[in-house]
Amino acid sequence: MERISILELVEQIPDEASAYRFMEKLRWPDKPVCPHCGSINDHRFLNPENGTSRRTRTGSHSQRRVWKCRDCQSQFSVITGTPFHGSKVPLRTWVFVLFEMCANKNGIAAREIQRKYGVTAKTAWFMTHRVREAMKVGVAPKFSGTVVVADETWIGGEPKNMHANKRPTRGKGFSDQTPVLSLVSMDLGKNEVRSQVVPNVKGSTLRAAITEQTDLPNTTLFTDSAMAYRELTPKVARHVMVNHKAGQYVKRGAGTNAAENYFSQLKRSIDGTFHHVSVEHLPRYLAEFDFRYSTHQLTDTQRMQRLMGQTAGRRISYKRIAEQP
Ligand SMILES: [Zn+2]
Repeated sequence: MERISILELVEQIPDEASAYRFMEKLRWPDKPVCPHCGSINDHRFLNPENGTSRRTRTGSHSQRRVWKCRDCQSQFSVITGTPFHGSKVPLRTWVFVLFEMCANKNGIAAREIQRKYGVTAKTAWFMTHRVREAMKVGVAPKFSGTVVVADETWIGGEPKNMHANKRPTRGKGFSDQTPVLSLVSMDLGKNEVRSQVVPNVKGSTLRAAITEQTDLPNTTLFTDSAMAYRELTPKVARHVMVNHKAGQYVKRGAGTNAAENYFSQLKRSIDGTFHHVSVEHLPRYLAEFDFRYSTHQLTDTQRMQRLMGQTAGRRISYKRIAEQP
């Protein structure tokens, strides 16, 4: 899909019917797929051929574009099985919020969505979190055959404690901060990052998390020289340890710089845009930043397309997909 600006998007989507059409292009580039049974039969379009609106059972008019599955006979629309399903917010507003969250490097605060789109604070908050939920990658294969940069950082606490150098904020007295482990897989323009909240930064915890996500014998691992990581040296193809304090990130190549850039972006955004993120919701914010970082080579609309694909895939079981010809 082509590159697009928010203004063009507003022009392209003047009403609900066009919002549905826009989402359909993203989710079903070829033809509608039944989200209930996975069928790609020629489903029956229930809206009148030439009109955009459809009379509902209660007698009101709806611009929701609806199909009836030829196989399982269920009705569905493009948002069935997505985080936008069952929401009272117009799909048009969802598309704009989705676009802003995909396009803005720092994300967008719920407060800004409230102001821009005239929804309540509570609605704005739920919208952003539903989109974040959709941005979660889910089950993915281990990183393999790449350079993986592993680093941990602390999120939260007083802003004045959140300078780039994480060392001084460690230890007792900073229990309001949450440790986060990020793994950046460096793969020629296909960099991917996976971040997770970890219960602590003990060596055993960090090593278990890295081992779970990484095919160690086929990985060149970049870490700092913390003891926690040293036990991984015999298990990986190559282990490069850099000394943060000595400023060796610059010296040891672009690889680790990318990871550092990711962390500073994450922290800047959480400080600047969100001010305070509770531990409970942190995994969703991490999913949002990971998603944008891992799709940085895509255009904003391609990124939306990826997101729609992800949400759709999650609701249909693998078995159902596999049964299709
Ligand atoms: Zn069906």
